[in-house]
Amino acid sequence: MGDKHYICTGGCLGVSDKPGVCQAPDCPKHEHPLELCNCKDGKHYNRQNKKSAN
Ligand SMILES: [Zn+2]
Ligand SMILES: [Zn+2]
Repeated sequence: MGDKHYICTGGCLGVSDKPGVCQAPDCPKHEHPLELCNCKDGKHYNRQNKKSAN
């Protein structure tokens, strides 16, 4: 498995193995480009902040 992947940092926890944009309609970064990540532990260097509850 490659370790390159693309993540959304808008809070939707979106991950893709290809470049693209966020697909989650309710995400603040919907249709914003995903960011390249190369973590190997699935934690994405803590760059994916969970959306805080209202
Ligand atoms: Zn998103
Ligand atoms: Zn990652």
